[in-house]
This record gives sequence, C-alpha cells and structure tokens, in this order.
Amino acid sequence: MGKGVLGFSGRGSKRLVSPAFDEASDECQTCGACYNICPVENGIKLGEITGNRPLPIKSEFDVGLVDRSAVYIPYAQAVPNHACIDPVQCVHLNTGACGICEEVCTADAIDFDQVEVMQDINVGAVILTTGAEIFDPSPLHEFGYGRYDNVLTSIQFERILAASGPFEGHLQRPSDGNVPTKIAWLQCVGSRTEDSHMPYCSSVCCMYAIKEAIIAKEHVDTVKPTIFFMDMRAYGKDFDKYYERAKDVGVRFIRSRVSKIREIGDTGDLEVQFVTEDGTVSLERFDLVVLSVGLAPGKNNNDISDRLGLRLNKYQFIENSDESPINTTKPGIFVSGPAVSPKDIPETIIQASGSVAGAAEILSEVRGSEIIASQPAARAHI
Ligand code: SF4
Repeated sequence: MGKGVLGFSGRGSKRLVSPAFDEASDECQTCGACYNICPVENGIKLGEITGNRPLPIKSEFDVGLVDRSAVYIPYAQAVPNHACIDPVQCVHLNTGACGICEEVCTADAIDFDQVEVMQDINVGAVILTTGAEIFDPSPLHEFGYGRYDNVLTSIQFERILAASGPFEGHLQRPSDGNVPTKIAWLQCVGSRTEDSHMPYCSSVCCMYAIKEAIIAKEHVDTVKPTIFFMDMRAYGKDFDKYYERAKDVGVRFIRSRVSKIREIGDTGDLEVQFVTEDGTVSLERFDLVVLSVGLAPGKNNNDISDRLGLRLNKYQFIENSDESPINTTKPGIFVSGPAVSPKDIPETIIQASGSVAGAAEILSEVRGSEIIASQPAARAHI
C-alpha cells in the first residue's frame, strides 16, 4: 500500500507513534499486522483505525482457544519447522495489497510466487497413516458447545494443560481466566450412539479422560474432577489399575447419562442435568465441562479409497485385508493408526512398526523381486 505500518503524528511533546491509517481511509486492509507488532498493550485499537470489522484467525492447533496471525508456524514440532503463509487469510495473496511481511522479514524469506507443486513418484510400497477426525459436538445443542465459553472438548482441555498451550499450562477457564474447582467430563460424546454414523466405541476417551482428570489435580490440588460415564472401558495393559488409582486420588465417577447443560446467568458456571442408573434425575453445578469427543473416520477416506482402489468398512474407515491388521485390500499398500479404527498411541506405534516391516520386506532385494513380480508397483501422486 506504499505506507509503513506505523508513522508519526504531532510535533514536539505531542509527537506520537500512530498507525498509518485513520478511519476515513479505505486503504487499511484490517490485516492486523500493526496490532500484532505493537509493543504497547492496547496501543493499537483496530476499531478506531478502520471501519472494517477485524476478524480474528483462530489457531487450529490450539483449537480456537487463541488467535494466530496469517504468517505462522503451525505448531512447535511442525515438520518442516518453518513459517508458512495462510493463502486464505493473506491480504496480499487475495487483493495484492499489504505485503508488509516481505518488507520487514530480515531473513528475506517471503516469496509470494511460490505455488503448490504436484509430483508423480514411483514407489515400491505405500503406508497410509491418514488418522481420524475429532467428532464435532456443535450439533449436540443440549451440551451448549460453541455457545458456552466453559464447555470445551477434551482436545481443547489437553491444550490448556500443555506447557506449550495457550495459557502455558496454567489451568484456567476461557471465560474469565479463573482457576476452576469443579470440572466435569462427559463420556461417549458422539460415540456409541445408534442413530448416528458413530455407533462404535471410540476406545481412547475413557483413558484420556482419566488422564486429564489426574493431571488437572496434579496442576491444582483443589480441583474436584467428576467423570460421567456409561461403561469404563479400561481394557489395555494395566489400564484398570490406572482407573483404580484415579479413584484413590479423588476422581469421582458417576454412572449416568447427561441430558442437558445450562449456563447459570452470567457467572460462566454450568448446571449439568443427569440421570443415574436408578432413574434419579439430578442437577449439579460445575465451573468447567469437558466433552470426551470420539473419533470419526478421516474426511478424505472416500477420496483416498477411490484413488488407491481400496475398500472402506461400513463405518468408512480403511478396511484391512483378511491377511493381517497392517494390510489393506490392495497388496503393497499398508495402513496403520486410527485410519483403520480408533486406537491409542501405543497401539498405533505397534501397528506402524508392523507396516514399516511389511514395506521393508517388499523393498528388500531378496523378497522384493518375488513380491514385485506378483503385483504392480504402487504409484503415488503427492
Ligand atoms: Fe465411551 Fe469410553 Fe468408549 Fe470413549 S472409550 S466411546 S468414552 S466407552
């Protein structure tokens, strides 16, 4: 736009650093760069600079708990660990204006002309690790997710507990930053519902809810966690011991179904209505509610199966062949992790190791020639 982000106004003792635009100007693109770099808290008020309404970009990795800029590193361990430009949000890529990042980048790393490149490569084997989707609880209106600030998904709560998370590991609720005391977890959100496309058990949520409850207590000793569950499926090695330990450290378990969550006035507190096994309907107040959301099949599974000639199972996860849990229905293409069915990290790692061994066998000089002679080489379009 031919102007620096910030300029000076006034003279002598009235000299001020101010944005280059004012509300009368239609040049401001509301990119928010000045707001992001201003070292003075509240020094830039976008609402006073422009008539445009600033739209924050929600961080995908922190599940909307904080905002991010249009130039960003997706997450701390991203590979490659480089900043990228969000082509949907970048003002320059969409209008040709702004371009301030190119001006200020001391590494001279901004190249607006870079484009996505598609390549065909010949490979001897393919391993699919496309994962699963997190169930979106927004359509379950009775839980108020998206309406009530203090109703979170388990993934959001995981980010709150993380030292690299939006609050640097400090346990607080999003609405007012207060430390919650009473926290409720609701199990089987999206899973085990016969009238949905997820009638299956998501297999990981019981254990991650127990883990989150114990860690929340480790962070703040005064936390009183309650887990509302149908069945506690602690089926892995020593998982049941962990469940028993949770009871010992003060995690309360209530076998019940939650029918409704309601916000209490403007307190941000939440009233949970639930029915226990004997049919009693009860109400209880909580500071924070965490929805233990299930795992849905990958949203690109149909596309992947069409392009690779694979079969999906009735829930739209990638189907294993009868031979082993690492083979798909097409020789040379292996699969591991929640692309096949919901599973936790240890199980995923075991399956991934098996897939790598299967691929290595095909690629080995001894077995490879026999196998390749009996099947066409895989071809990947990346
Ligand atoms: Fe429900 Fe537990 Fe199964 Fe998750 S793992 S769907 S919370 S029973």
